[in-house]
Amino acid sequence: MSLFIITPPEPASLPIQGTEARFPIRRIYCVGRNYLAHVREMNEGGDERDPPFFFQKPLDAVVHDGGVVPYPSLTASLHYEVELVAAIAIGGANIPLATALDHVLGYGVGLDMTRRDLQTIAKDKGWPWEMGKAFDHSAPLGMLVPANVTGHAPRNISLSVNGDVRQSSNTAQMTWSVTEVISKLSEHYRLEPGDVIMTGTPEGVGAVHIGDKIFAEVEGLPTLTITIGEKL
Ligand code: MN
Repeated sequence: MSLFIITPPEPASLPIQGTEARFPIRRIYCVGRNYLAHVREMNEGGDERDPPFFFQKPLDAVVHDGGVVPYPSLTASLHYEVELVAAIAIGGANIPLATALDHVLGYGVGLDMTRRDLQTIAKDKGWPWEMGKAFDHSAPLGMLVPANVTGHAPRNISLSVNGDVRQSSNTAQMTWSVTEVISKLSEHYRLEPGDVIMTGTPEGVGAVHIGDKIFAEVEGLPTLTITIGEKL
């Protein structure tokens, strides 16, 4: 007799540069409002050093490099957000700043796809962000590179749509650094091996349409390309 009454879902995972072994994903955490110029373009108030806040995306929302994000339901404003992704290899709670980067296995490129109109409604009404952020196919994630290869230093981050550059910044512009994000997040949740953290997007977010090709790049990491597909 089978252990499960229905077939369990395939485990989510990411390729890692330089090895056939894949990175198993346990949780996908995202950081909100982590670049001041993006906070300003969204017309959001608040102090630039307001504590970081977090939300999650479901594991089965992952789309791999070269994949398709079908245009999601119930939105007329699908936005891209290019983000540096940190993959956690060593767990911990209340991780101090001094050792936070020791928990990082490596880095990758991610897209925090957003139903901006639904997110705006949620903000206005004080509702959770799930419907704007955690929909099907909302988490394209690229190949990881081990930190001992790519390092931890700030790097250029950019995104183009059909060849036009829309976002161009540097991760040094993050309000809360990767070190600080790991430390703060680990106060809310015990981090575990397999967690990935999308660290927020710079300014220049905007809408995409069916047929658009999104090219996301973070210096020193494999690029991430996805196409917006027809509605399912
Ligand atoms: Mn984001």
